[in-house]
Amino acid sequence: MAVSLQTLIDRSIRNMGSGIHPVVKETAIEVIKRSYKEGIYVQMTSGYRSFAEQNKLYAKGRTASGKIVTNAKAGQSNHNYGLAVDYVLLSSDGKTAIWTVNSKWKRVA
Ligand SMILES: [Zn+2]
Repeated sequence: MAVSLQTLIDRSIRNMGSGIHPVVKETAIEVIKRSYKEGIYVQMTSGYRSFAEQNKLYAKGRTASGKIVTNAKAGQSNHNYGLAVDYVLLSSDGKTAIWTVNSKWKRVA
């Protein structure tokens, strides 16, 4: 059974966080709806990020373990102002993230 549109929207709203800019939030939801109509299952994976969260991410691969995931320190990312979202495509059942940048992914962008 295909994942419902509402599930994708609910998960995305949760992942974008309460600090997401309202216009960005509405636009992201519109993108999810339009994509769904085309059989593309999009889910926002992140949105607003506090300065503390950004610094924690910046430390990854530098002063903390793991690989470097960002070059932006606190205040340097659009995520810190609620103006950026990241997304991933899901399998039609909504259970598996598809991390490949394919034509569907580009269509969403
Ligand atoms: Zn991002």
